[in-house]
Amino acid sequence: MIEKVKEQKKSLSFDEMTGNERARNILKRSLQRGKVPSSLLFYGPQGVGKIDAALILAKALNCLHKREDACGECSSCKAIKSNVFPDVIKIEAEKDEIKINQIRMIKQAAYLRPMTGKKRVFIIEQAERMNQSASNSLLKVLEEPPLFSHIILTTDNLFSILPTIKSRCQILKFAPISEYDIQKKLMHMGTDEERAKIISLLVQGSMRRALEFDWDEAEEQRKKAFRLFSSLVEGGKPADSFKKYSRMRKENFEQSIKPLLEIISSFCRDIILLKSGSSGSLLINPDYREALQEMGKIMTLKEAIVSLGVMEECTRMMERNINRKNLMNTMTIELMDRKNV
Ligand SMILES: [Zn+2]
Repeated sequence: MIEKVKEQKKSLSFDEMTGNERARNILKRSLQRGKVPSSLLFYGPQGVGKIDAALILAKALNCLHKREDACGECSSCKAIKSNVFPDVIKIEAEKDEIKINQIRMIKQAAYLRPMTGKKRVFIIEQAERMNQSASNSLLKVLEEPPLFSHIILTTDNLFSILPTIKSRCQILKFAPISEYDIQKKLMHMGTDEERAKIISLLVQGSMRRALEFDWDEAEEQRKKAFRLFSSLVEGGKPADSFKKYSRMRKENFEQSIKPLLEIISSFCRDIILLKSGSSGSLLINPDYREALQEMGKIMTLKEAIVSLGVMEECTRMMERNINRKNLMNTMTIELMDRKNV
């Protein structure tokens, strides 16, 4: 059921997509001219529409009614949407890695005429996960571009793609979607204005996160984050709820603490805004205004800024895979020490 809802929320055509107008226009123009490059690389943060755009491009290349976009109605568009079109193939990491046999499959199929459609399209998701031999194997295909096939790589980490691969692809940047566009889209889908605004502020430009946003779960998370933040700001012994994080397994720890760090950062930002006398309309958590004003009484503006810095440092530490004990220590000690900075 959830899968079905997600399916319905996906953009069907370039015209229906939100954000990334520049990338969409470049793709539409190349379709119009019949000059879509044989290899493309879409990069940008997760959830901003790279895979949607790749699928729409695959549909448009095979669409029976339209040339520069997908009609969404013809048999090809529908089959691609339902993932049953034999000429459009998605390659995803298996156990965090894209292996050479997955790329060999592309190598074998790319030079053959399409089975039912006009073009074969291979979409490599999270291309940064190709291991060395998979990357080298793909490079061979890119060096001899197949006539009937297009290869679309997507990644949120452009730097980990081999320069030799990058140099053979047309590279398109996908940027986070603006809060205004996310709010508008959510309202269009029936979310009320205040909720749509709060969600748009919390998802950091990711349309996917906005569409999958679970309000009740988010409320729970914000409550949890607020308790954790209060216990840190008030000092003394960290709350028991806080200690349990350092005893968690690595995967669970990352999943639980990362969203909390993001929310705590958003509380810090709000306190900074409130203390600088900015208008309430800019707050990320407008419904926490009073609670944050109270908390702001025990922090100076400088302390709030230091705290935000600590949270951002902790997020960076997580990305660098620093062990969780060090991370929790940094968070506790530095936040409590903020007065001495
Ligand atoms: Zn169509």
